[in-house]
Amino acid sequence: MAKPSSIDIIGGGPGGLTAAILAARAFPQARVTVHEAAPRGVTWGFGVVFSDRALDFLAKDDPETHDLIAPRMERWQNMVLNHPDGAVTLDGIGFAAIGRLELLTILTARAEALGVELRFGTEADPASMQADLIIGADGLNSRCRTAANAPSLGHMSNRFAWFGTPRPFDALTQTFIRHPKGALNAHHYRYAPDMSTFIVELEEAAFDAHGFANMGEEESAAYCASLFSDVLEGAPLLTNRSIWRQFPKLWCETWTAGNMALLGDAVHTAHFSIGSGTRLAMEDAIALITAISGASSLEAGLADYQQSRPPVARKIVTGANTSAAWYETFSQHMEMPPLDFAMSYVTRSGRVPTEKLRALSPGFMAEYEAAQ
Ligand SMILES: Cc1cc2nc3c(=O)[nH]c(=O)nc-3n(C[C@H](O)[C@H](O)[C@H](O)COP(=O)(O)OP(=O)(O)OC[C@H]3O[C@@H](n4cnc5c(N)ncnc54)[C@H](O)[C@@H]3O)c2cc1C
Repeated sequence: MAKPSSIDIIGGGPGGLTAAILAARAFPQARVTVHEAAPRGVTWGFGVVFSDRALDFLAKDDPETHDLIAPRMERWQNMVLNHPDGAVTLDGIGFAAIGRLELLTILTARAEALGVELRFGTEADPASMQADLIIGADGLNSRCRTAANAPSLGHMSNRFAWFGTPRPFDALTQTFIRHPKGALNAHHYRYAPDMSTFIVELEEAAFDAHGFANMGEEESAAYCASLFSDVLEGAPLLTNRSIWRQFPKLWCETWTAGNMALLGDAVHTAHFSIGSGTRLAMEDAIALITAISGASSLEAGLADYQQSRPPVARKIVTGANTSAAWYETFSQHMEMPPLDFAMSYVTRSGRVPTEKLRALSPGFMAEYEAAQ
């Protein structure tokens, strides 16, 4: 069995912290250190969702961490599409959500309880790390990623800003609104009993027409809150580095270089509409530590990780890109009547057999088929 005696992890996001926890369990004699640039208790964004199986993927590999997180999640069975001409409920499309900061706080406490050293507020230089194994979990703007990893980076054309609101929504909801300057969409869901994520998204031409490029964070939040005042029921939108961005589209073929392994957003991104980026980063960490602990040497473990994990992640990333592409023309889809619009949404990742849809969302399919 490979037994690294020292492991440096660059990045204390969900991927890096999961790797730290699993490494501390698998290699109890090793020094495991996480280097996180942000101060303790600080992160960007609000809540994140996990699709269908929620945290089931973690239960087998680390039931203790799973049991710490699971009770803190908000869960619901149905999804709601608020089309301007009527709402449609998509039954059976369940999600679970948790605040990003709460997730990181739980993972940090668990890592420290297992003896992991966390160094907050330190921007680590991968070149100065001396450990047997270095894990690059440093997110989208990774310094660990190099030419050896051959990154392919682009951006979706839509603009989005990630707000929060103290209005707890009943279900994961997508609200689409018409506007003379261009349509807007909001992805909103409760991630704590009293808080919801509220991501506003719009196509590039609408972004320009509304004049968001010349608005600061607070002005954008106030303007969006007025546009979505019906669904917000007058609640404000809160900011946390809620700048307008284009979602990055990243994929790397090579996830290892020498004694370094990369994971999470450092090697791939998955559009937030399928709620998988956090889960993917955590699953990468599981795959990496499983591969190393099951191999005869560190080299063999890294080779196994490189061979086995990217093809699995690639399928999810491809699905996320297809989903994101649907949003890039959502204003055209909105011209359909609500039920057809909902069918277009449900099948946006490709052809889904009718029988499968009937099993997944029997209530929605009955309503849709009755209307044909
Ligand atoms: C608007 C939006 C909504 C999203 N919604 C969801 C969702 O609903 N569900 C979901 O699953 N995913 C969602 N995601 C994606 C998710 O946030 C990411 O996929 C996930 O955070 C990736 O985890 P990670 O650990 O790889 O990287 P990150 O979470 O980015 O963590 C990387 C960490 O590395 C640190 N770091 C960087 N460089 C250094 C350095 N040199 N030294 C030390 N530390 C460093 C950073 O400070 C950061 O804390 C969303 C993303 C966006 C933008």
